[in-house]
Amino acid sequence: MSRHALVVGAGVIGLSSAYHLRRRGFEVTVLERDRAGHAVASYGNAGIVVPSHFVPLAAPGVIGQALKWLLDPMSPFSVRPRPSLDLLRWSWRFWRSATVAQVRRAGPLLLALNLASRRLYSELVSELGVDVGFTPRGILMLCHTQRGLDEEAAMAAAARDLGLDARVLDLAAVRALEGSAELDVVGAVHVAEDAHLDPGALMQALRAHLERTGVRFALGTEVTGVRDHGTGAEVELRLPDTQRTTLRGDAVVIAAGSWSAQLARQLGLRLLLQPGKGYSLTIERPSQYLRTAAILVEARVSTTLIGGRFRIGGTMEIAGFDERVSQARLEGIKRSARRYFPRLPRAELDEAAPWTGFRPVSPDGLPYLGRAPRHANVVVATGHAMMGFSLGPVTGQLVAELVAGESPTLDLGLLDPGRHG
Ligand SMILES: Cc1cc2nc3c(=O)[nH]c(=O)nc-3n(C[C@H](O)[C@H](O)[C@H](O)COP(=O)(O)OP(=O)(O)OC[C@H]3O[C@@H](n4cnc5c(N)ncnc54)[C@H](O)[C@@H]3O)c2cc1C
Repeated sequence: MSRHALVVGAGVIGLSSAYHLRRRGFEVTVLERDRAGHAVASYGNAGIVVPSHFVPLAAPGVIGQALKWLLDPMSPFSVRPRPSLDLLRWSWRFWRSATVAQVRRAGPLLLALNLASRRLYSELVSELGVDVGFTPRGILMLCHTQRGLDEEAAMAAAARDLGLDARVLDLAAVRALEGSAELDVVGAVHVAEDAHLDPGALMQALRAHLERTGVRFALGTEVTGVRDHGTGAEVELRLPDTQRTTLRGDAVVIAAGSWSAQLARQLGLRLLLQPGKGYSLTIERPSQYLRTAAILVEARVSTTLIGGRFRIGGTMEIAGFDERVSQARLEGIKRSARRYFPRLPRAELDEAAPWTGFRPVSPDGLPYLGRAPRHANVVVATGHAMMGFSLGPVTGQLVAELVAGESPTLDLGLLDPGRHG
């Protein structure tokens, strides 16, 4: 009889886990509290697959920059002070992790994970056989200032040392690559290994594929408890009609994004996760756009062309699960976009409806991925912050390896979910 895995969360991490578990012959049930099955962050993000992002979020220099940004309501980063022990612990860990040693430790692993995921995306896209906007054009790190370009050029040298195809381009070379848009930049770094796709289309196609291959979806179903019985694991559920029940399987995968910490706590596991709210604006019929995914470096804003629409996103707001839209942060994104794209009409930005999503942010820039300590039948997969979409496929593969009792294809020591207590 085949084994049954219960996956909590229908985001990119949950669906990717379900995909790889099903391929290994598991019966799989995905439990998702949203009635339509829409994991907001995974459907609406910028869709960039980022081997270029091998420096973790917590890195030297980040703290000083972040402190300056805290004073500016339009800046791309903010932490709302509040009386929370979890926030205090997270901030302390973040500060402790922003070291050269951590970048040296984490960088090669992040690169290996992202490169593996990039390969798996190519395979997945062919297997799905539907257009999900897969665009292997790399990424442009666009620099408005010479200082920004000098810093990015140093990063490009580090990227080349790690084997990436990273080149510094002057404005003429950027124009030759992109042509159409009017840009106010001094140059860019182009990293060839990156790619982008339409996250909403990918999620829909992946879910349809999973349903066709026999994965069950329990939507509108909130998991309120997780238990490990030694011989198997169990979840407590609140069903759409608000009735409560339990469901037993051989293993449970906690892939509940920013909400994972509440479930992990029931197993005595402390994940230091903060929801990092991000914003985006998607222009339906843009007059200015880039075909290659881009980061507007000094502004920390991303742009992607998704199905002919131009998505401009950014901001990391650490303010709990507050869904309100800050007009000041939106204004910050709009002004940044117009600084780099001077001919982008303000009206196009004002007409685009704002979108927000929560990234599950760990304090040391690394996901939590592994078995819950002392609970061999529960696997935790979260904390991917700004690269959860990129790392979805490789995370799913590693989750399936762990649940199946195989040795993981990458060393997961640094990702131990128990590393923060
Ligand atoms: C503006 C923005 C741009 C981004 N751009 C990129 C990008 O270009 N590239 C990239 O790699 N990443 C990007 N990200 C990050 C990426 O979106 C996230 O890291 C990723 O979507 C996280 O996926 P997840 O599956 O862990 O969580 P989610 O997508 O949040 O899914 C978790 C799911 O679990 C469900 N859930 C939670 N608790 C329960 C429960 N108790 N019971 C049942 N269900 C539950 C939730 O309803 C949710 O559907 C971006 C994020 C933002 C905000």
